[in-house]
Amino acid sequence: AGTGVSPLEVREVTVRFAGLTALDAVSLTVEPGTVHAIIGPNGAGKSTCFNVLSGVYTASSGSVRFGGVELTTLPAHKIAALGIARTFQNIALSARLSVRDNLLLGRHRLTRAGFVAAGLRLPSARREAARHLARVEEIAAFVGLAGRLATPVGLLPYGVQKRVELARALCMEPRLLLLDEPVAGMNGGERAEMAGLIVAIKESLGISVLLVEHDMGMVMRLADTVTVLDFGRRIAGGPPEEVQRDPAVIRAYLGA
Ligand code: ADP
Ligand code: MG
Repeated sequence: AGTGVSPLEVREVTVRFAGLTALDAVSLTVEPGTVHAIIGPNGAGKSTCFNVLSGVYTASSGSVRFGGVELTTLPAHKIAALGIARTFQNIALSARLSVRDNLLLGRHRLTRAGFVAAGLRLPSARREAARHLARVEEIAAFVGLAGRLATPVGLLPYGVQKRVELARALCMEPRLLLLDEPVAGMNGGERAEMAGLIVAIKESLGISVLLVEHDMGMVMRLADTVTVLDFGRRIAGGPPEEVQRDPAVIRAYLGA
């Protein structure tokens, strides 16, 4: 896990809903060990793109490959098993469960012994549970949640809940992390903290990151590569400093 040697290759992906083309022949590549940002006005197709990549929606046409494996028609759990983890634009945690339990749920797909062995309290299951717990504690420390493991998630401030969500995705030991607006609704301090974490995920853990982000400053600071969508089409792409100057991008953002 976390070797970051697999590119994500999105080729000519189209997604149609009744009467609407949400994504229109979009292509992009996430190079291993990089942060790639998808930006664009509301309704541009950013979340739809994430939903295709994580198997929530199936593309009407086109292909998505990860590390050479075709995942265009795979269900969400198989895509996750290939090492692609995601967070959601709105928090999807169990508010009444502790941080620790939410993170342990995040490791579910890695559990080999399974519920029967665990229920019988077999030694192998107990050893496996201990290993998962140790890893959960390590990941919690990495995102700055070491002191909050026993706290019910619903009692935590919003910005801290977003870090729990990030930690839960990391618990799946992904090679690629999809982050949908990771700093939405956060204050300045929380944003800076999240930005630092995303850099650490890339540099210390070697995990590639694909993020959807509205905050331009954040995109310019974090992203190695940017793809710009507008009305479901890719209108620009490249290094952030180039994309920022692109006339088509400026027009899209000014609504001209
Ligand atoms: P963004 O995340 O860039 O704001 P979305 O990907 O959420 O944009 O939406 C792109 C377009 O697709 C919008 O017009 C949206 O209304 C439409 N859309 C998204 N999901 C669905 C769906 N499940 N059914 C119908 N239309 C959808
Ligand atoms: Mg969205």
